[in-house]
Amino acid sequence: MPNYKIAVVGAGPAGYFTAQAFQKAQNEELTFSIDMIERLPTPWGLVRSGVAPDHPKIKTVSKVFEKIAKEDGFRLFANVELGKDVLLKDLREAYDAVVLATGSTTGRKLGIKGEDLSNCLSAADFVPWYNAHPDFTDVKVDLDTDTAVVIGAGNVAMDVARMLAIDPAELDPTDTAEYALAVFKSSKIRKVIICGRRGPEHAAFTAPELRDLPKLEHTDVYIDQAQITEANLRVEQMGEVEKDLKNNLEAMRLIAEHRKKGVERKLEIKFLAAPIEIKGSNKVEEV
Ligand SMILES: Cc1cc2nc3c(=O)[nH]c(=O)nc-3n(C[C@H](O)[C@H](O)[C@H](O)COP(=O)(O)OP(=O)(O)OC[C@H]3O[C@@H](n4cnc5c(N)ncnc54)[C@H](O)[C@@H]3O)c2cc1C
Repeated sequence: MPNYKIAVVGAGPAGYFTAQAFQKAQNEELTFSIDMIERLPTPWGLVRSGVAPDHPKIKTVSKVFEKIAKEDGFRLFANVELGKDVLLKDLREAYDAVVLATGSTTGRKLGIKGEDLSNCLSAADFVPWYNAHPDFTDVKVDLDTDTAVVIGAGNVAMDVARMLAIDPAELDPTDTAEYALAVFKSSKIRKVIICGRRGPEHAAFTAPELRDLPKLEHTDVYIDQAQITEANLRVEQMGEVEKDLKNNLEAMRLIAEHRKKGVERKLEIKFLAAPIEIKGSNKVEEV
């Protein structure tokens, strides 16, 4: 009975679901031995170091990864980096197939003036910093200011904005890095503005994440109702509206209409607002 040796490089979701696909393809005449190679001491990729710590439910997918890892013929080699500890040519020689599932770790530049000022951070640095990723513990995060601007209108922007806008005591029971928790607790930020360059109908947020926003206990969330009304009109003119888009716009309408608590911490989502320059002498002072 043929047994194929497979190397999967990267222990993130793509690596695990690749391993699972091989496991599911096994039958009485065909089996796979899977070696997963991961550069960090711990597996799960961005499920560990990307997902926001105040949304632990999303991390339950790790239970699926644990099940995959318990299957016969699966081995994890952590602390082994492709390109440093082992070379692709060696893996090619030793295995029947090599799958590269190493993810994407670099943020995209905006290409505007001032984005290299200190305290202008990419989510690709800020998120792993608060999630205790060993490569990012030294990122310099200065929250000694009253307002933060988050550029982008997707769930990563929303995670980042929520982390900055909520009462840090809400992070106590989570697995936020201790050093980051200390910085959040001394943060002076009381207003966080998310800027989406296009209209609400083009935002990449998803409805469940939007629906969570009015539930924040210590933060009021603002969206300009007129922007949602105008987006609905634009969308209706385009014909049939997709369910996901309808749900998103409805969730945003509810945020806009939601009665505010009158608390000090504010999170505002602004649309049709593309940054053109980031200003400041040493660090960010204005966007
Ligand atoms: C801030 C943020 C929040 C997110 N939140 C959510 C969410 O709430 N829900 C959701 O569904 N998705 C979320 N995502 C998206 C999701 O995390 C990614 O789509 C998913 O993790 C991609 O999986 P991957 O396996 O391709 O990459 P990764 O998760 O990045 O895994 C790649 C793995 O490869 C390893 N690796 C890299 N280079 C090497 C090498 N040379 N040798 C060995 N190993 C290596 C890395 O250490 C890592 O463990 C979020 C993403 C980000 C950035």
